[in-house]
Amino acid sequence: MKPTTAIRTYLNDLLLLAFPDNCLLCTHPLMSDEKDICYSCIDSLPQTDYHLSSDNPVAQHLWGRVPLVHAASYLYVRDGNVTQQMIHLLKYKGKKKVGIKLGRLYGYKLKEQGSHYPKIDIIVPVPLHINRQRQRGYNQCDLFAQGLSEILEVPYEPSVLTRVIETVSQTKHSRYERWGNVEGIFELSQPEKVTGKNVLLVDDVITTGATIESAAATLLQGKDVTLSVATIATAGR
Ligand SMILES: [Zn+2]
Repeated sequence: MKPTTAIRTYLNDLLLLAFPDNCLLCTHPLMSDEKDICYSCIDSLPQTDYHLSSDNPVAQHLWGRVPLVHAASYLYVRDGNVTQQMIHLLKYKGKKKVGIKLGRLYGYKLKEQGSHYPKIDIIVPVPLHINRQRQRGYNQCDLFAQGLSEILEVPYEPSVLTRVIETVSQTKHSRYERWGNVEGIFELSQPEKVTGKNVLLVDDVITTGATIESAAATLLQGKDVTLSVATIATAGR
């Protein structure tokens, strides 16, 4: 994170301590019908609109690696932009409601315009390793999944997958490797919950795609599973 962003985040924290009913991003007071993030900030979110296209860059990035019905990301993230600010609040500042809010916002988008996705039966967040989850106290992907679940009116199941290896070694996973090679990071703990289901796998940021690829390959070990992917953000703009 750039020093200017760090200072802005720090000032933001101070303001929000003093005025809890202010926007989490711009710190302006919220109107009575606004919650957590003001309408002006929501309007300015750098949306990808990738859900509108079956051959969007996120879907293309995963082509040939793991069989998916559809894949998309809600927002562009880059150094210092509002998405990076939100992900920082969500992951490192305990602002769990940012995750739920983003899930709800994307949920509304997908409910109205998510026709490239099949009818989703169950939402599965990419799990953290137990050590990381204990350290943070929560999994940020669970919160995004929770917000999506509320709006799409389908359950989310945080215990379907278990992360058994803490980090993905990026050097091991060139995108030309077969998806089978990245198995072993996750385990399918509750296969019965995804049998015959249209599953939506959700993550925070897609970078190399190695984590998603591995989680997807593990979910597809379930019987008659069809899989799609949605993430909060992807690099760009
Ligand atoms: Zn705002």
